[in-house]
Amino acid sequence: MCQGESLTALEKLTHATESSPHPIMPLTDLAPDIPAMFRRAAINAALGSARAFFSSLKTWRARKQKHEAKHTKKRKKRPFRERPPVPPRSWNKSVPFYASLWHERHTHGIVLKVWTGSCWSWLKVHILGRELPDGYAMGSPQLVRKGDRWWLHTPIEKTFETPAKSGEQLTTAQTRLCAVDLNLDKHLAVCSVQTVDGTILATSFIGNGTAVSGCRKQLLGRIARNRSQTGLIAENEQDNADLWAKIRHVDEQIAHLVSARIVQFASEHKTSILVFEHLGNLQPEKGTYSRRSNSKRAYWMKGRMFRYATYKAWHAGGIITCRVNPRNTSRECHRCHAAVIRYNQGHPVEGYTSGAALCLCPQCQMRDHADRNASIRVGQRLIERTQEPLKEKPHARSQRAKRESKDSGVGISQDAKRQMGPSIPAARRGDHANGHGTAQGRRRRMGASFPDIASQLRVHFE
Ligand SMILES: [Zn+2]
Repeated sequence: MCQGESLTALEKLTHATESSPHPIMPLTDLAPDIPAMFRRAAINAALGSARAFFSSLKTWRARKQKHEAKHTKKRKKRPFRERPPVPPRSWNKSVPFYASLWHERHTHGIVLKVWTGSCWSWLKVHILGRELPDGYAMGSPQLVRKGDRWWLHTPIEKTFETPAKSGEQLTTAQTRLCAVDLNLDKHLAVCSVQTVDGTILATSFIGNGTAVSGCRKQLLGRIARNRSQTGLIAENEQDNADLWAKIRHVDEQIAHLVSARIVQFASEHKTSILVFEHLGNLQPEKGTYSRRSNSKRAYWMKGRMFRYATYKAWHAGGIITCRVNPRNTSRECHRCHAAVIRYNQGHPVEGYTSGAALCLCPQCQMRDHADRNASIRVGQRLIERTQEPLKEKPHARSQRAKRESKDSGVGISQDAKRQMGPSIPAARRGDHANGHGTAQGRRRRMGASFPDIASQLRVHFE
């Protein structure tokens, strides 16, 4: 049923008219004279929730089917563990104020039609908030209840042209992408801007992760001490509520600040793609309660920074976000892809120390900050994906990556498959075989862009 039909059907059930004088669930039982626009808004809010539920049920079924099809083929039975979505048992929704239910909207106030408990009346409310940024339009406001207070939420909307998909954008040599390496230690995020043809333009080091981590660990330590002093925790009772709230707020705040800085940097350098790594699995740390919880929370924060950056980038003029396989991004040289030596200042230059600040490539003598090198590799990996589409799967997780690295046969069989394809030039096979494809790849990509440059020149001289 389309939106209009379901709305009419539901109105018939709730609203008395001449043609149907006795509806099944008359709204007049709840309150007299409910404004028509309020009724419609409420029905549409309910329909929206119902549709959201059915669409997530549909995608869940599709995932289940896919999973089962995959596991019967291999004769390896692994049950599908993901739980189906559940429709809400109780439902509480804020109804938007449609056009006739509010008037006199300006920067500092609005007049709303509300139910006071005995009648519908106009209520003037003051609004605090920033002015609307350029190019945005305001939608229907909504009153949202939080505890014993009411908040007025106003959605804002901006229309812009849908950007091209990453694969398409990456065929242009001048496309800029901003690759991000998220860390848990010194710098929370290291971003590097590069073009598709390999020019590195800028790097930014964001945030002091050590300070955040230290602050959080201290709070967690206080919780642990409080717990040991009070002994048993009453069931269903959240202990140390204030301290937990503080930890949550610090994490939330940092994730917002860092993601905003990432997007700011990306748009300052006119990039159109943001690249992150897939998160991989959480590797639990051993040690005290505060240490374990701290590492877990830091891991969650990485996910949060990614989510926030994704929507902020989209709103900053349609920057799209991609994720790549995280395998060895910090272990490979961005110039020649050989394994790097990672070390700390003042320590011997040998081996690989996880988390150390500096790196040196023994093959091409590249010296750089280790996180900067990693962020550049993250970006290169996305570019490589368009060159060699079969080499990396878009959703490859770290687990799968590990398996492949153990069994190099996987890579070889893919190679063989690609060799059969008639459209792949011999040069590409060659540079894949020795594993150092950048130089050759770059030349080819630039070659692909020559017609563009040529046509531009022609226009200029004609
Ligand atoms: Zn190198």
